[in-house]
Amino acid sequence: MKTNPISSTVDFEKDGTQHGFLKLPHSRDESAWGSLMIPLTVVKNGKGPTALLTGGNHGDEYEGPIALFNLARDLNPAQVSGRVILVPAMNYPAFQAGKRTSPIDSGNMNRSFPGSPEGSITEKIADYFQRTLLPMADWVLDFHSGGKTLDFVPFCAAHKLEDKEQEKRCADAMQAFNAPYSIMLLEIDSTGMYDSAAEEMGKVFITTELGGKGTATAETVGIAKRGVRNFLIHAGILQGMLDLRPTLDLDMPDGRCYITCESNGLLEMKVDLGEDVSKGQLLAEVHDVRRTGSETEAYFSQLDGILTARHAPGLIGFGDSLAVVAEKV
Ligand code: ZN
Repeated sequence: MKTNPISSTVDFEKDGTQHGFLKLPHSRDESAWGSLMIPLTVVKNGKGPTALLTGGNHGDEYEGPIALFNLARDLNPAQVSGRVILVPAMNYPAFQAGKRTSPIDSGNMNRSFPGSPEGSITEKIADYFQRTLLPMADWVLDFHSGGKTLDFVPFCAAHKLEDKEQEKRCADAMQAFNAPYSIMLLEIDSTGMYDSAAEEMGKVFITTELGGKGTATAETVGIAKRGVRNFLIHAGILQGMLDLRPTLDLDMPDGRCYITCESNGLLEMKVDLGEDVSKGQLLAEVHDVRRTGSETEAYFSQLDGILTARHAPGLIGFGDSLAVVAEKV
């Protein structure tokens, strides 16, 4: 296969801290012979495992980038055994635009794997992760949040996998990250996901959904910072003690967890994130705003659990994800 056009300005084999870029040629109207410069940091100290840490897979999710820009500046190589590779904003064009997907090619990074060295900008970045960065890694953490259109209770997740030994290593890493909620996810459609690319290579992979609404709070950023340190300590890469607090284990057994909107209008939630709900309980009503006096459309929980995610904006459309209810384990 063709060589990826991305070059790195850092030496992944060199000890110490290096701040640099993944340099992707992108000749365009504003910059003939220009390049996209995706920031990255490598912190290495001797032999040991490698952790690959990413945020901004979706460009409007901020806990990961905030935690990783901080960690890149503050991580002391003397406290590291092995290597940490940090890419705080993986889909950098999307991140710069404050959008979920890339403004250059509309690419959704988490649907673009394994990517292609001859594809779109997003596919070229995906291919670089697939064939260069992921093979270097033993431990992989990819931060997500709800973006502009969703809001979540803060959780860390691992996936149900066919290889139960690998699934156990991922579940242990999820517990070490120690978000307030922990979820074993069964992906409904894993095609093109970074998660699947990492898992298929046998890596220990965890992900998060730490909040949303297109911003980050002091609380959710704190969870991200504590979680990534815990993850590195658990991996044996960073010295220190795990900072563990109570976590609630949740499960999303099947499609009944997902409530999809089948109307357009004004969203009136009846339950807030983190609240207990029971099967048949009214979760939300959607008002038809074209006229006054019309009946609302009602949405009910299909199982007992807690409200784990909700549509964030005040207006909602047909086919939008309205809510997610997860079961307590
Ligand atoms: Zn995301």
